[in-house]
Amino acid sequence: MNFEKMIEYQKCDQKYSVLNNELVNSQEGKRKTQLENLMSDAFKKIVALNKDASAILGSYAAIKAELADKTSELEKFDGIFDDADGADDMDATELKYYLEKASKIKEELEKIEKRLSEASAQMREVLENYNKNRNNYNGWAGQKKAIDESFMKRRSEHEGEFKALEAQKKKIEEQFPEEIALYRKVLASARKFPVLGGYDLKSKHCPCCGMEFAGDTLSKLKNPGDYADCPNCGRLLFVPEQK
Ligand SMILES: [Zn+2]
Repeated sequence: MNFEKMIEYQKCDQKYSVLNNELVNSQEGKRKTQLENLMSDAFKKIVALNKDASAILGSYAAIKAELADKTSELEKFDGIFDDADGADDMDATELKYYLEKASKIKEELEKIEKRLSEASAQMREVLENYNKNRNNYNGWAGQKKAIDESFMKRRSEHEGEFKALEAQKKKIEEQFPEEIALYRKVLASARKFPVLGGYDLKSKHCPCCGMEFAGDTLSKLKNPGDYADCPNCGRLLFVPEQK
């Protein structure tokens, strides 16, 4: 394993990330990130409000159906009370029974109407919120192009450096594909950057995080060219070739 080449590749990555951080933290970069966050938050809210609206619409339709059922139940009494002869035919107990039943249905109807107006109020609120977020989103979307362009202009100042680093990385990778595949693997699993460290045979500690190694790690790091993962920070440590 050619660790020198892996370190060289890692140095390119480090330079690249320093440049990129500068860019992200520049005024243009901050404005871009801020705008993107605002847009993404508003978008998430719009999606959630859409979901709320269809849930309310669903319950509104169900309440309306209940209302229609109760109304038609109540209408059945129309004939009984309107028809004077019919009422005359009833005895007092029967009349009382119908009246009670009708007034119970009326009570239920009022409750349903109350729920219906609550659902309407909820819907209005959701719509208001939706429109507010939609307007915000559209306003920000209108600014996006100019902000992206100023960011790209800023980035173009470093374009040469980015390209040179990419070319250097590509060259190393073509010559040492096995090394770079290993480097990438460690890069993906290590929790911190840089991911490669030269191990001093006398130290018994990770040069990156300082962890003291147990026997199983020490046994993998005995001779120049040996390498092992640090069990604590996940970086790859290697014993440098002696010069
Ligand atoms: Zn470590």
